[in-house]
Amino acid sequence: MTAARSLSTVDDLVAAGLVREDKRAQTAAVAERYAVAVTPPLVALIDADDPFDPIARQFVPDAAELVTLPEERDDPIGDLAHSPVEGVVHRYPDRVLLKAVHVCPVYCRFCFRREMVGPEGLGTLTPAELDAAIAYIAGRPQIWEVILTGGDPLVLSPRRLRDMMERLAAIDHLKIVRFHTRVPVVDPARIDAALIEALKASGKTTYVALHANHPREFTEDARAAIARIVDAGLVMISQTVLLKGVNDDADVLAALMRTFVENRIKPYYLHHPDLAPGTAHFRLSLAEGRALVERLRGRVSGLCQPAYILDIPGGHGKVRADSMAVEEADDGCFRLRDFRGETHFYPPKES
Ligand SMILES: *Cc1c(COP(=O)(O)O)cnc(C)c1O
Ligand code: SF4
Repeated sequence: MTAARSLSTVDDLVAAGLVREDKRAQTAAVAERYAVAVTPPLVALIDADDPFDPIARQFVPDAAELVTLPEERDDPIGDLAHSPVEGVVHRYPDRVLLKAVHVCPVYCRFCFRREMVGPEGLGTLTPAELDAAIAYIAGRPQIWEVILTGGDPLVLSPRRLRDMMERLAAIDHLKIVRFHTRVPVVDPARIDAALIEALKASGKTTYVALHANHPREFTEDARAAIARIVDAGLVMISQTVLLKGVNDDADVLAALMRTFVENRIKPYYLHHPDLAPGTAHFRLSLAEGRALVERLRGRVSGLCQPAYILDIPGGHGKVRADSMAVEEADDGCFRLRDFRGETHFYPPKES
């Protein structure tokens, strides 16, 4: 199946054969609640006859999303509590997130920011908000790195990216600009010379963190887009969400990590799935995740080893999920120590 444009309505999904007629009403209820978009390259990758297709599972809405559990949260990693000005999240001393835009080319069904992204989400920063965000960064010499995320920052036009990068380039204490994106795999044609040029800032080092979850996402076009970025001198790292029914298998994870490395992308983070609303069907337990990561350790090169990360619910930051900072307690619950040394429980006890 090839599509000329992104599928973003239930009618589109039914017409493309990705949602069965008898699931139309349920799917409409999901689409009413959470944004939907599947780009043509992904539509082409989906095997509509396979009920367990790992690409469909990531992007095609499922009735299971209508079930929200008590421990799930609208803001699972506590962005809002650490947002000093609109669009900035400042949780760690030396780095901030800058969320200039809240739309994405695709909407992942497991998204941890699903209550904030989408056509009806938080929108794009206004010029005044962007001024305030840049002023916040410029005024704090301890900020060494800015992480552009969202939403997907690579949906911005090269002109807008260039403007933003020029303003960041003017901040002396800032050394690193990192983009978090899914565009090279979900819309590789967008990665052209003008866009790549716009990601560079004079005197700064640019990192591009690619979010991909299954080796099949690396189509020939995606590999070529990645090669254009790396050939231009930008450093690429990876980000993967560990997802039940997508990549919760040691062979799939090993193949995915090797694919990153073969494409000159250093595996960086493997995220334990967050407590985002309507995503219980994607979550495995921390014990299951740790066992999978343990199996990956022995079987593939050290180049292929990501750090296994849990974002502590409530905004306490990330913790290495396979480290001494995470201890299994007798009741199957885990005790986590955050970067400040405070203890939390997972799953959270209060909710
Ligand atoms: C995840 C995150 C970062 C980046 O953390 P790294 O460990 O450097 O990748 C920075 N700020 C916030 C608020 C985050 O949630
Ligand atoms: S691309 Fe990232 S921010 Fe956008 S829907 Fe997917 S996980 Fe969420």
